[in-house]
Amino acid sequence: MAVADGLPAHAYHASLPGGRASGILRVYDHGLVFVRGDGSIGVTLPLQGLEIKRGGASNRLFFCTHAACPGWQVYTADPALLAAPALANHAALRALGLQRQQQHLHFWGLTFGGLAALAGLLFLLWVSLDGLSTLAARNVPPDMEARLGETVLGQYKIGKDLMDDKVALPLLKPLTAPLAAALSEKRYTLRFHIVNDPAINAFALPGGYMVINSGLILRARHASELQGVLGHEIAHVTEQHGVRAVIRSTGLFVVAQALLGDASGVVAVLANAGPLLINQAYSRDFEREADAEGLALLKRARVDPRGMVAFFRTMLEEEKKQMAKIPDANARKVMEASRAFLGTHPDTPERIANLEKKLANEPRAGWRDDEAAFRALQAEVRRFVSENRDPGAAP
Ligand SMILES: [Zn+2]
Repeated sequence: MAVADGLPAHAYHASLPGGRASGILRVYDHGLVFVRGDGSIGVTLPLQGLEIKRGGASNRLFFCTHAACPGWQVYTADPALLAAPALANHAALRALGLQRQQQHLHFWGLTFGGLAALAGLLFLLWVSLDGLSTLAARNVPPDMEARLGETVLGQYKIGKDLMDDKVALPLLKPLTAPLAAALSEKRYTLRFHIVNDPAINAFALPGGYMVINSGLILRARHASELQGVLGHEIAHVTEQHGVRAVIRSTGLFVVAQALLGDASGVVAVLANAGPLLINQAYSRDFEREADAEGLALLKRARVDPRGMVAFFRTMLEEEKKQMAKIPDANARKVMEASRAFLGTHPDTPERIANLEKKLANEPRAGWRDDEAAFRALQAEVRRFVSENRDPGAAP
């Protein structure tokens, strides 16, 4: 695309819906203008004092910032930016050239100095790309992960009907605080949200963000069933399944870069992974890991771990029951809802069997009793749903 037409670009700023917008970048004599998809001007970064940095996978992206526009970050992958006449001899491009040279030196230093390390790395890759992506994921700073989760949540929230946090959090806290307290490392702050959605589902985003559908809360029969699902979702967070899945799909270079301590490539890839993360269908391995880790977490929190299995079982029964009533349109809706949960959580019978084997020797009594808090939550969710009956309708 020619510079005159504008370059495809994206911008980050807290004022944008979801913190992020797509659009085009135009280069004028007075500055870089980011025009949003709807034609409105997002921001103008003056040329005087403009800063440009490379980043992202393979350093392909050009990130533009200006001290006069705090918080704004505009980036494009189009190298035509560098050829814009208005930027000829601009200090930002000279700085960029310098930076590139330094990076080259750095790279060769690494190559010759770390040949053995690279050979070891390739061996590791050969052994297990998953092991490698796990290591790479650990190099993504927790606050970056949290920012990513927040951005994706922002994208998800558009057009959705979320319960007011001021109402939801005090009701959720007695049920979630024991789980948070039992985490073996405090890398993440767990943040729960409730959405008005009849589908029996919940999902976790990187950095500790979790969304629970009203349908799941209303269908659970006991506190331990809801907590069982949350234990599983929390394990997706602590085991970094979202980040690991994205890293696995990005290829060797980004993984190697992150292993060498530079997580910027991973972060740039993750920044565009929103839709993937929202509709994440994890691999069987990740689901098994989340079951096992979730179960261990529940036990440490003194939450009856049988609740997790009981809820899986409820889901299976629900599906069978609804199958029998297919002609009823309403029933079909409920069936699709339970499918949504089972669809992202495959192999349910096998997983139930695995969990039951692990639970065989667990005591029946002596677990926490959070039933009163659970009933209070359910009552409020029921009220919330009845007040906002049609979650799909336009506002
Ligand atoms: Zn899962």
